[in-house]
This record gives sequence, C-alpha cells and structure tokens, in this order.
Amino acid sequence: MKTVKCSECNEEIPINSIVCPKCNTRCLSTKSRITAIILSFCLGIFGAHNFYLGFINKALVSLACTTLSIILIIAGIFNNQLVFWIIGLVLLIFVFIYAVFEGVLLIKKIIFRDAKGKRLK
Ligand SMILES: [Zn+2]
Repeated sequence: MKTVKCSECNEEIPINSIVCPKCNTRCLSTKSRITAIILSFCLGIFGAHNFYLGFINKALVSLACTTLSIILIIAGIFNNQLVFWIIGLVLLIFVFIYAVFEGVLLIKKIIFRDAKGKRLK
C-alpha cells in the first residue's frame, strides 16, 4: 500500500487516510485539487493556484514576473523598443508555461498536497 508522511507527526500513513491513526490529525485538505487545476490554467500567470494552495512565495514570484512582463510589453510598445517587448513577452510565456506545467502536475497528482502538507480533496 502507498504511504505518505503525516504532516503533523511524520508517521507513515496510508495515502488515502482521512485522519492520521497515530495523532488523529485530519490529513485531508479543505482545498480542492480540481479548483487548483482550474486556477492554474486560467489565472496561473498571477499565481492564483499557489495563492489558493498556500504556497505564497511561489505565487508572489509568478505575480511579480507577470507584472514585470506586462510593464516591459507596455513600455516596449510606447517607446518603440522591440527588445523590451520581446523580453516581456518571453517572460510572460515562460510564466504561463510554468503555470500550465504545475496544472499538469496537479492533474497527474504529482502535486497532491497544500502548503500545510494536507492531501487535496
Ligand atoms: Zn499524525
């Protein structure tokens, strides 16, 4: 049987446990995996799925990169600087690919926990 470590007591527990048999902590997150997947595909460039799951630092990095890329694109257009525009666009595409990649990891259940280590429902 597949096991995972309890987020509280580190005990190896069956992957589909709802409550840890040792410390009685609830192992199931209140966050839904499906919601996280939808957020990663629709609003992933703003880090929405990571904000939702509680991975605030990761979410802030995505948000900062997206903001920077939009500023570069707008600045590039208004100042006729093609290089700004291209750097901004490449950065935005990179952040988008990363968000979709995390969405796929959520679909494949490679990411299956929230930031507190609780299994997504
Ligand atoms: Zn436990």
